[in-house]
Amino acid sequence: MIFKQVFDNKSSTYTYLIASTKGREAVIIDPVLENVDQYIDLLNELDLKLVKVIDTHIHADHITGASKLKQVTNCSTLMGEHTPADTVEIKVKDDEIISIDNLKIRSLYTPGHTSDSYSFLLNNYLFTGDTLLINGTGRTDFQNGNSKDAYNSLFNKLLKLPEKTLVYPGHDYNGKQVSTIGDEKKFNPRLQVTSIDEYVNLMSNLKLSKPKLIESNVRRNIHLGAN
Ligand code: FE
Repeated sequence: MIFKQVFDNKSSTYTYLIASTKGREAVIIDPVLENVDQYIDLLNELDLKLVKVIDTHIHADHITGASKLKQVTNCSTLMGEHTPADTVEIKVKDDEIISIDNLKIRSLYTPGHTSDSYSFLLNNYLFTGDTLLINGTGRTDFQNGNSKDAYNSLFNKLLKLPEKTLVYPGHDYNGKQVSTIGDEKKFNPRLQVTSIDEYVNLMSNLKLSKPKLIESNVRRNIHLGAN
């Protein structure tokens, strides 16, 4: 399998480019607008045809490259059915299979960070968006975020996956690229709570500042990054 993890320095976002092998179809998860040329170069180098671009949720901290990629490659745009984005072509429900060539990606509805957050599972690769981060979890204080939903998405869904499942998050701010469900269960400080109330309490006391440009980013992302 071809698997490329591309880091955006400005927003600390991870974008994933996946395909079965050279010369075949590819998918990109969580592209950043400013880096679209880089993705196109990668696709060309590997002789890949981009068929789908997925956003895990409406992002607040960067503008998605989905529309631009569609414009350049004619790929389809895909998000979970709870998205407020108005131009998404394919909307998946919880537990649907997305086929790209011979790759099968399973959608998992994991609300909490936002009400439209999905995670995606490809074999033992789990793309968690901002639902589960390495040693962290996505904040729940805007975009219909909800700590109870986040707890359920984490404890009753993602952490029930096999311990060896690889966790590929939507961001990392400390240079970490990958973790496992087993390691997150053991070491992630946010996941050491013993009840839903304890998690809600922990999340309501984070005192985080609002992301820069959140309003304009969200406004753009509702149109998948188009002006
Ligand atoms: Fe986010």
